[in-house]
Amino acid sequence: MALAAGVIRRLDEAVVNRIAAGEVIQRPANAIKEMVENCLDAKSTSIQVTVKEGGLKLIQVQDNGCGIRKEDLDIVCERFTTSKLQKFEDLASISTYGFRGEALASISHIAHVTVTTKTADAKCAYRATYSDGKIKAPPKPCAGNQGTQIMVEDLFYNVNTRRKALKNASEEYAKILEVVSRYAIHNSGISFSVKKQGDTVSDVRTLSNASTVDNIRSIFGNAVSRELIEVGCEDASLAFKMKGYITNANYSVKKCIFLLFINHRLVESTALRKAIETVYAAYLPKSTHPFLYLSLEIAPQNVDVNVHPTKHEVHFLHEDSILERVQQHVESKLLGSNSSRMYFTQTLLPGADCSSNEVVKSAANSAAVTKGTSDKVYAHQMVRTDSREQKLDAFLQPVNNSLSTGPTAEDRAVTAEDRAGLPEGTVRPQDAEMEDVSDVAEMADAQRDAITAGGLSEHRHLSPETAPPQKRPREDTDIEMEKDDTRREMTAACTPRRRIINLTSVLTLQEEISNQAHAGLQEMLHDHSFVGCVSPQWALAQYQTKLYLLNTTKLSQELFYQILIYDFANFGVLRLSEPAPLFELAMLALEDPESGWTEEDGPKEGLAEYIVEFLKKKTEMLKDYFSLEIDEEGNLMGLPLLIDNYVPPLEGLPMFILRLATEVNWDEEKECFESLSKELAMFYSIRKQYIIDEASLTNSQNEESDSGSPTWKWTVEHIVYKAFRTHLLPPKHLTEDGNVLQLANLPDLYKVFERC
Ligand code: ADP
Ligand code: MG
Repeated sequence: MALAAGVIRRLDEAVVNRIAAGEVIQRPANAIKEMVENCLDAKSTSIQVTVKEGGLKLIQVQDNGCGIRKEDLDIVCERFTTSKLQKFEDLASISTYGFRGEALASISHIAHVTVTTKTADAKCAYRATYSDGKIKAPPKPCAGNQGTQIMVEDLFYNVNTRRKALKNASEEYAKILEVVSRYAIHNSGISFSVKKQGDTVSDVRTLSNASTVDNIRSIFGNAVSRELIEVGCEDASLAFKMKGYITNANYSVKKCIFLLFINHRLVESTALRKAIETVYAAYLPKSTHPFLYLSLEIAPQNVDVNVHPTKHEVHFLHEDSILERVQQHVESKLLGSNSSRMYFTQTLLPGADCSSNEVVKSAANSAAVTKGTSDKVYAHQMVRTDSREQKLDAFLQPVNNSLSTGPTAEDRAVTAEDRAGLPEGTVRPQDAEMEDVSDVAEMADAQRDAITAGGLSEHRHLSPETAPPQKRPREDTDIEMEKDDTRREMTAACTPRRRIINLTSVLTLQEEISNQAHAGLQEMLHDHSFVGCVSPQWALAQYQTKLYLLNTTKLSQELFYQILIYDFANFGVLRLSEPAPLFELAMLALEDPESGWTEEDGPKEGLAEYIVEFLKKKTEMLKDYFSLEIDEEGNLMGLPLLIDNYVPPLEGLPMFILRLATEVNWDEEKECFESLSKELAMFYSIRKQYIIDEASLTNSQNEESDSGSPTWKWTVEHIVYKAFRTHLLPPKHLTEDGNVLQLANLPDLYKVFERC
């Protein structure tokens, strides 16, 4: 038979519509998504979905929204009929889900559709059935509550191939549950339910008074919900906002769960998923993934909303910059959150080094002594720690030579300067290297001798005053100290008196710190035995019979913040041996992808110049209150000395300078001091990169005794944790947010062993 040329014929309109419909609605879950979006557009607060055979036999969606007017029932299922969009220009500002009037029309071409609906002012409900986009008979009055119920029966009854492809009802049902539950999480405040027809129990059910986290819990379970971190950031220059919840490093699953809404539509973005997973890769065990729920709002004109209904993959303007911002934010949140178990299992077990209580001066110890009676430790609770009580290495560090105290060689660039207000105990050994020698040199020497003679670091304190530790962080103590000044050895002529701060803003910040303090935690920190560093970020400590995992980063950040607030305007200075030009620091920071710089921000040079000029205007205040010294040329000369023998990780300096200019609230006094102190505290805190850099420098994981300079581990144990004992009022939230975690309790372990 000869092959005849095909005759080109215009397709039957019904066939065209059916083909088009098959593209919009590929499976029951697509139809349900469209219908749920219509319910949300109609301002419903309750949306109930009932299905039969995975939606292939029946889908019924009932809402309590505004309803459809009787006059409109004739045409609701026609193509391109919508109540939501009139002009093309409206597209840019559309806030409803639907706008193209395509969903119901499509569904009616491939299924039997029945709409029952009542508006608020109609006397009764009306019902109408549709086929191929057309109403079959005039709407019939019937009974019904306000809202709309749409029933879709025999989906794909006239599309044989589709029906065959979708034989597996339970697979379709799973898809439906997935879609509706995601909308339920995104729309807390609206109750959702999904069930199979005939079942009394819903498979997804959320309540209208439940929070987003409640909804995540009820859908994904406790394992996810208890590890959630709230996220949120925005960037006006990129015209986007993001919020949501993501799991911390404690949680991981085989397959990434990513709920992404852009402008409230459930979409997919492979680029965004990859960007975020890259961040998590550093925190999660290999080939495991997080749970993510993110809601992005992007200026409507920057997203193409006019995508095809089945094209869930989206793209938007400034995509790369936005991804970067989101990445940064996620990273910062992960860093700040607890990732205990991972570190615990990976690095704790092989030989955590074991130290014990240091010999603490009697004053510091009095609390422990007096509480001894009430907190009796019974024999079975007794824990053998280390009989040597104090580790030898506590004595081996920085005092007797020109060793630097900081983690790396870079701190040789820093020397302590004895500035106004640098009283007893704030002298660092590096004073010997001080270039800016003047009348203070002598005093420094005298102090160092006193310190060396007196048994080293025990004598030194973080900050000017050496009041009994428990009392230190109270304003009244500060004032007392002032009066008490004469009793100090070092009140030589060159040590001016401590300045009393009467600024309401600072006093309020101090009060906020002390109001938040957690007494139990304070006691634990005060009396802990340091066990060892698990990682730069985490350390183990024992207190009584319990083992704790502590977030060094968070705690040190809090410590430095508190010192900045309590010792406000009374800091010594860490003098840079070479002035650091702010311009170059700012440029360095802007080169760093973490800065979030984009072309839209303008040339880096211009920004850096602006930063220098801006900070130059603040020099007086920065110097006076924070010992942050900047000269007329715009060079950074000095940083505040917050605790003895501690130099902040200087690789954080460029970013600190950038953030100083951009992240600090310079308008309100209290907010300014608070945010500035927070930025400084972040810069000073013990962080991850601190160590990585060192590891690459020293090229060994060896114990500190091998190398000439103290390692970060030494600093963490003997400087930072020591300061925690006496100078930190730990805020309550640390116990709740996983930054202080009790890992084991010995009596409980004994019970376990007994059973063995
Ligand atoms: P679109 O949502 O793009 O406007 P649809 O085909 O999804 O198009 O819906 C057509 C119209 O039917 C909507 O514009 C709306 O007026 C009406 N409609 C559909 N579902 C509902 C509902 N649940 N409640 C109120 N009105 C509805
Ligand atoms: Mg719609």
